[in-house]
Amino acid sequence: MTSRPEFAARTAGMRPSKLRELVAAAARPSAGDVPGPTLLSLGGGLPPAEAFPARAVAEAAERALAGAAGAALQYSATEGDPELLDLVGADLAGRLRLPDPTGRLLVTTGSQQALDLIGKVLLDPGDVAVVESPAYVGALRALAGYQPRIVEAPVDDDGMDTELLAGRLRAGLRPKLCYLVPNFSNPSGRTLTARRRTRLAQLAARYGFLIVEDDPYGQLRFAGADLPPVAADAAEQVVYLGSFSKLVAPGLRVGYLAAPRWLHRALAVAKQATDLNSAALSQRLLVELLADPDWFAGHLAGLRDLYRVRAEALTGAVADRLAGRLATPMPDGGMFVWASVQTPGIDALALARAAMRRAVSVVPGNEFSLADGYPRHLRLSFSMLGPAGLVAAVDRLGDAFDDLTASG
Ligand code: PMP
Repeated sequence: MTSRPEFAARTAGMRPSKLRELVAAAARPSAGDVPGPTLLSLGGGLPPAEAFPARAVAEAAERALAGAAGAALQYSATEGDPELLDLVGADLAGRLRLPDPTGRLLVTTGSQQALDLIGKVLLDPGDVAVVESPAYVGALRALAGYQPRIVEAPVDDDGMDTELLAGRLRAGLRPKLCYLVPNFSNPSGRTLTARRRTRLAQLAARYGFLIVEDDPYGQLRFAGADLPPVAADAAEQVVYLGSFSKLVAPGLRVGYLAAPRWLHRALAVAKQATDLNSAALSQRLLVELLADPDWFAGHLAGLRDLYRVRAEALTGAVADRLAGRLATPMPDGGMFVWASVQTPGIDALALARAAMRRAVSVVPGNEFSLADGYPRHLRLSFSMLGPAGLVAAVDRLGDAFDDLTASG
């Protein structure tokens, strides 16, 4: 006999993220008395500590507390700090040509909260949610909590295959929403072409679904030209998600969304119930940082250089050392390479395990699909290691390949 209540039915859809476990494992010092080789991480997609503008953040905190300590330490508006909303609105209207975002913005506790709020206000159990595939694990998990039927829409070199989706819509698929990361996606590294952006917006208008445009990496482009967001021509059909996690620091937990007018209030009301408001201190701190646009532009340029050098080091090392065994298309930005195993008979999960024994972490492709659609892919993140570390990690991956081929 147990004397406890049953969990709610929706918890059936809530699964712990193996990725988070991996991140936690990578953060632990090696166990036991015998120090093993330091784990080299191509696993978690986190900004490295050297990307954090720690001094600027400390000075901004000082100013935020000296200037408006009352506001920085008080509860604040659910929609967000008014000055931060102004700065974000001006940026979106200028950089992304988003039509008048005023009144459509909501500051969120990271983009992750935006994903949860969208699920909360739109999805009843059994509703259809289309997600690009492979998909950001956090989006799969946020949506799964609301028990939708998740339909995976495959990605090719040009991002989500909109014609394949169009075919499924013609055949009767009626999603409430369609989730994707149009720029340098996590995990695929792929960017949706301009033509497909327009096409997706057309499909959303025609079939009446919401596009969830998750764009945490858009400002980390290190090759090619910026593309207009899907939301640029379809503001009433798209909720656009931005985040300061990869641009300043994830520890601040500040993101934002620009919603269609019909959706904005429902999201704000849902957020009230969730956390009243996102951390006021973090928001004041960002206001202080963004008030110096030259500083921010220089900081972003530094990040783009950092990630470009690392992406080139990783893909270059794979081309040198693992040619014919692993293919790693170079992304135009972001933090991820979607690698495909070329050696016949080698499975990505087995390779990830062998790599762990060689003290290098990678994430097997099936993590990014509910249908286990990627047994021959790995997500490699180049964010955490410098060029020499990336070369060493690729050498260890080569050893892991050898271990597998030797053991048949
Ligand atoms: N979307 C994508 C595609 C991500 O990769 C991440 C974080 N890795 C998030 C959303 C969530 O970021 P945050 O909540 O820190 O803004």
